[in-house]
Amino acid sequence: MNQRQLFLNSVAQTSSAPMALEIRKAKGCYLIDKNGKRYLDLISGIAVSSLGHGNQSVVNAISKQARTYMHTMVYGEHIQAPQVQLAQKLKKLLPPTLDSVYFVNSGSEAIEGAMKLAKRYTGRSGFVACSKSYHGSSQGAMSLMDDDFFAAKYRPLLPNISFLDQHQKNLECINSDTAAVILEVVQAEKGVYVTNPEWLKKVSERCNEVGALLIFDEIQTGMGRTGTWFAFEQTEVVPDVLVLAKSLGAGLPLGCFISSSLIMESLQSNPPLGHITTFGGNPVSCAGALAGLKWMLKSKIIDEVKTKSELFLKLLKHPLIKEVRGKGLMLAIDFNDSSLNHRIIDRCIERGLHVDWFLYNEESMRICPPLIISEKQITKACKVILEVCSEFGN
Ligand code: PMP
Repeated sequence: MNQRQLFLNSVAQTSSAPMALEIRKAKGCYLIDKNGKRYLDLISGIAVSSLGHGNQSVVNAISKQARTYMHTMVYGEHIQAPQVQLAQKLKKLLPPTLDSVYFVNSGSEAIEGAMKLAKRYTGRSGFVACSKSYHGSSQGAMSLMDDDFFAAKYRPLLPNISFLDQHQKNLECINSDTAAVILEVVQAEKGVYVTNPEWLKKVSERCNEVGALLIFDEIQTGMGRTGTWFAFEQTEVVPDVLVLAKSLGAGLPLGCFISSSLIMESLQSNPPLGHITTFGGNPVSCAGALAGLKWMLKSKIIDEVKTKSELFLKLLKHPLIKEVRGKGLMLAIDFNDSSLNHRIIDRCIERGLHVDWFLYNEESMRICPPLIISEKQITKACKVILEVCSEFGN
C-alpha cells in the first residue's frame, strides 16, 4: 500500500473528504507535496505557522532543548527555564493585570482551563458566548457552540450557557449567575467578522456590573495576526482572562490562559490542582515559542501586517467577489455562494494556492497566510485567485 492508502486505512479520519495532500516538506511560505509540487500557504495550517515553515531560530531552539531535556515532570512542578522565560516575555507584552500564565497543550484545553478558572473565581456556573463562535472540540468548549449541526449529537453538554449576537443591545443574559462571557475579538470560524469595539466595551461594562469575568479567545488573533500582538489592543477593553494557542507554539503544540495572579490563585487551593495537565507547557514547545517570539520582536513583521493586508484588499477586486473582510492577515473572501466558493477553492489548490473555507461559513474563502509572506507573493496569490474567479464567470 502507498502512503495515501495507509493514511486512509490506519489514521482515523475526521470526514469522508480529507484534503489528503501528501506533504514532503515545508519551507517559508511553501508546502511541497510528494511530487515536488509547491503550494503557496495562504492559511498557515489554520492560523498556526505565522513565522512560515522551518524558521531557523525556532528549529535551532527546539533541537537544542530536545538535547538538553524534554519532559521531566507534569506541568507546574519543576522549574523549567524555557517555560519561565516564555511567561516573562508574554507578561512584558501585556497589561499589568495579565501577569500569570497557565500553560497547556492546545486551544481547547486552554478554553477548558479558562472556564474552570472562571467557575472557581466567581463561584458561579453560567457562561455567555457569541453565536457562531468556535472555541474548541472538547465537551466544555463545545458547550459554547450554538451550531446544532455540529453540537446536537453530543448533548447533554454543559448547562447554563446563553448565546449573544454581537449586535445585541440587550445584555441581560449576562447576570449574577454568569461566571464569564467568552468572546473572540474577531470571530474567526463565522467567516472573519470583526466584533464591534463599542459593543465589546458595553459587554465589558456589563461584566463589571454583575461581577462576571470577561474571557477573550485570541487563539487565532493572537501573536500579531491582526497587526498588533493581541487584537484586544485595538479595542478599549482588557479582558480578565486571555486565551492563546495556535501560533503561540511557533509550530509546536502549546496553549495558555493568562489572568491576574489574584484570579489565578483560585486554582491552587481548596481543592488544589484545579487544572492538571501532563504535557502542558512542554519544554520543547516553550523553547520553540520563546525563540519564535524573540524572532518576531526582532523582525518587526507585525508592523508590516497592515500594509500587507491593504495590498490584499486593493488587489482582490472581481465581480464574483462580494466582499473581502477581516483584520490584518486574517481575511475572508466572500462569494455569497458555497458551491462557487468550493469550486474556486478546489481550483486554487490545483493552481498551487493552499486556501480553505470556514467551519461555519462555506461561502467565504479563508486567507490567513504566514505573516512573513512577501508583497510579491501576495501579488502572485491575488493574481491566481482573480484568474480562477474569471474561469467561473464575470
Ligand atoms: N478557539 C478558536 C478561535 C479556534 O480557532 C480554535 C481552533 N480552530 C480553538 C479555539 C481550538 O483550538 P485547538 O484546535 O487547538 O483545540
